[in-house]
Amino acid sequence: VWSSLKSHMKGESPNYVVEMRCKTKLNDWRWIQSRGRVVKRDAHGAPLVMSGTHTDITPHKKYELAQKDASTVFSSSYEGIMVVDMNGLISKVNPSFTRITGYTEEEALHRSPNLLSSGKHEPQFYQELWEKLRKEDFWRGEIWNRRKNGEIFAELLSISVVRDEKRQIQHYIGVFSDISQLKEHEAELVRIAHYDPLTGAPNRRLLSDRLNQAIIRSMRNNATLAVCFLDLDGFKTINDQLGHTVGDKLLIGVTENLKEVMRAEDTLARLGGDEFVLLLSDMPSPEECAPVLNRILHAVGKPVSIESQAISVTASIGVSLYPQDNVDADSLLRHADQAMYLAKESGKNRYHLFDPESDRKAQWHRNYLDILRSALNNEEFVLYYQPKVDLLNGDIVGVEALIRWNHPEKGILPPGEFLSHIYGSDLDRKLGLWVINAALAQAEYWHRLGLAVSVSANVSADYLLEPEFYDQLKDALLAHPGVPAAYFELEVLETAAIADMKQAIHILQHCRELGVHFALDDFGTGYSSLTYLRKLPVDTLKIDQSFVRDMLNDADDLGIVEGVIRLASAFNRQVVAEGAETLEHGAALLKLACRVVQGYGVVRPMPAEQFYGWSLLWKKEAAWEKLNDSSVPPLA
Ligand code: C2E
Ligand code: MG
Ligand code: MG
Repeated sequence: VWSSLKSHMKGESPNYVVEMRCKTKLNDWRWIQSRGRVVKRDAHGAPLVMSGTHTDITPHKKYELAQKDASTVFSSSYEGIMVVDMNGLISKVNPSFTRITGYTEEEALHRSPNLLSSGKHEPQFYQELWEKLRKEDFWRGEIWNRRKNGEIFAELLSISVVRDEKRQIQHYIGVFSDISQLKEHEAELVRIAHYDPLTGAPNRRLLSDRLNQAIIRSMRNNATLAVCFLDLDGFKTINDQLGHTVGDKLLIGVTENLKEVMRAEDTLARLGGDEFVLLLSDMPSPEECAPVLNRILHAVGKPVSIESQAISVTASIGVSLYPQDNVDADSLLRHADQAMYLAKESGKNRYHLFDPESDRKAQWHRNYLDILRSALNNEEFVLYYQPKVDLLNGDIVGVEALIRWNHPEKGILPPGEFLSHIYGSDLDRKLGLWVINAALAQAEYWHRLGLAVSVSANVSADYLLEPEFYDQLKDALLAHPGVPAAYFELEVLETAAIADMKQAIHILQHCRELGVHFALDDFGTGYSSLTYLRKLPVDTLKIDQSFVRDMLNDADDLGIVEGVIRLASAFNRQVVAEGAETLEHGAALLKLACRVVQGYGVVRPMPAEQFYGWSLLWKKEAAWEKLNDSSVPPLA
């Protein structure tokens, strides 16, 4: 102020103008503009009178300062700013706009902002953007744009609409920042989370997404999706012998080889170790998978050169097919995994297709086994007893224990309904042991009552051949001292005995040292060689019921029955005819010199508690006495 005033007074300027901030009496700051001029000077030119004005320019000054601030913000903002006029053309850009986009102000002005468009967004994206701007005067979001040098980049953009007092649009202001680096970082995180770092293939997590999508696509396109579980054969040996670095390189090489035979829409994922999963979508039919799978096997086998040596591996692949196997993603993978094990088992370097039907059966079988297992725990099994009688004098020479399942809902079920399901499982042994103990307990009970009857129990082939069979039988006998071992007999199927004749002979001999007897059950259904039969330490042959049943009207069966009876006598074995359904059968058997029979013709199998009463009745009725009558028709 002073210097400007001084220079004016000296006559260096025609007038003076200054602006200053002053405090008013009311302690209030105002901007004042002082304008003045010397209007009278003395003869030497020294100023005498000055005239001028003080004007309060506070509002104007504030506006001007604000303008200045805004322009500083505009030009120094790190964010790119562009102003677009109501005709949709760029009317102003700041230096950051140029830094980010590469376009200078001259290049950008009067151009449409779509100069930056990357082509990465669908038209719908822009439609929605304008829609929101029109409705809310504001839009904010991420957008892919293109720099002048062609590079595509991500920006975070806010657009505001500026309107005048009449709500007419004046212009749009877009403020944006370059978030490419953030995006890259984000992408890196996604990559780490979804891809296997060694091979770069999708990992388990991404596989799960892809698999779900592939299932949906398969439904939509009505095409087969093949889920292939691939496991390298002998990879562990390579790792152990050549080291992990070589192992890793081999995995990378195999991944590359596999990628070469896969189509763009397929997925190759690595689950870890040497386990991979391939999703082959849009297979026109299950049959068409075969050539593809063979190509894959071939690709895995291609040698990978590592440290100047060529290493090759093979793979075992398990395949589940959707929708033929109509289950969820997890189950498809599990099924493919199961099938892979079968591929390994059947020799490796091959694929195996999962079969839903046989799996359902296996599943059903497993469930059924569980039910049977709990039936055993719940003591739902019982033994019925069927006598073997001597038709010459009516003596009860023994009773056979026959298992029944007292099903909580279905009642008494015969063994034909459930026994076949337990063969080959652990339950076979458990149930077998239970039968032996239960039959011995019953025999012991009868013996204590004074009913000295020989009890026989059936034993399955697998259980008989178990190494622990002998000890378990021995323990069972010891646990039931009330019944002499000679009163206990085990019935072994003829077919079972000849399946492993040497072993059977050995076990039977060993067990006979305990004092028990053996009978060959269903005799005639196997083909025992006479040599073996001679060696087999059994006391009794039980003629299979199928021959006995039909012997009255089938000459062949009669012949077999007759033959077995002769054989038994030649080898000095007892013979029992089972399945004697009528007394007529009994009479016919007697004529052939077979005295001991078992069958409905005598009595059906019965619960243990009925046996004593029945035995008294049997003696009283003495039905066998009639058999030697002349009233019985002679054999044909
Ligand atoms: P099996 O040892 O040959 O037993 C004789 C089967 O013939 C019994 O059937 C019996 O009820 C039936 N039967 C007896 N007399 C007649 C007759 O006159 N006519 C006809 N049609 N059938 C007659 P069940 O009880 O159904 O047993 C079938 C088979 O199941 C048995 O044949 C035996 O091999 C097996 N089994 C039964 N109980 C057990 C057991 O506790 N353990 C094992 N491992 N197998 C058993
Ligand atoms: Mg039997
Ligand atoms: Mg039998």
